[in-house]
Amino acid sequence: MSLSSSELEQYDRQMLISGLGTDGQKKLKAAKVAVAGVGGLGCPASIYLAAAGIGKIVLVDNERFELNDLNRQILGWPKDIGRFKAEVAKEKLEALNSQIEVEAVVAEITKDNVRNVIGDAEVVVDGQDNWKTRFIINEYCVAHNVRFIHAGVSALHGQITTIVPGKGPCLRCIFPKDPPEREKIPVLGATPALFASLQVMETVKLVTGIGNPLVGRMLFASGREMVFETVEVKRNVECPVCGNL
Ligand SMILES: [Zn+2]
Repeated sequence: MSLSSSELEQYDRQMLISGLGTDGQKKLKAAKVAVAGVGGLGCPASIYLAAAGIGKIVLVDNERFELNDLNRQILGWPKDIGRFKAEVAKEKLEALNSQIEVEAVVAEITKDNVRNVIGDAEVVVDGQDNWKTRFIINEYCVAHNVRFIHAGVSALHGQITTIVPGKGPCLRCIFPKDPPEREKIPVLGATPALFASLQVMETVKLVTGIGNPLVGRMLFASGREMVFETVEVKRNVECPVCGNL
């Protein structure tokens, strides 16, 4: 894996980051990251993954843009209403960064297709708005040693944690029972944008090996009060998903 002269120029500012350098940039270029859901979290997350030079991005979403998505799903513009989110996002991300490869998968993630959809991605970014699918992804990631960056948002607040199988708790350790599903979650676009940025920061750290990932810790942020708080989350040795690791 080598970097072209245009790549060296394009990523110059981030390669100056301590510990990242050209070696880190090569790791980003070699990486494959899946974005599970191209909504409020997945749109900004995929933009920053693309801009950072993640070599292969897989976008998974089965929905089409609607007018009421546009306050937060920033890859969807008025002209894109009615089109599949994954396909619109692929076009725009490839226009943003022609150095990378983007794959659009128009599908809802299920137990049956999760292996095909996520495949050999080394990191999955959680862009889901429902727990049922998150737990399907969690199980797959634990079973196949894939890192999973969970985030969830509502209104002006949200949460994020990084799941590295065997190293810290999985999503099922943290939530032994399924949290209630909500039909229509209130949200300001800036809230998922904040958490998507944190997800990309965690992804870049995991891929390049810099810094200290949010493993065994859950960060909660309340924009209403502008309070950020990190709490310890522990593995459950009896966890039905990761207890035997
Ligand atoms: Zn677990």
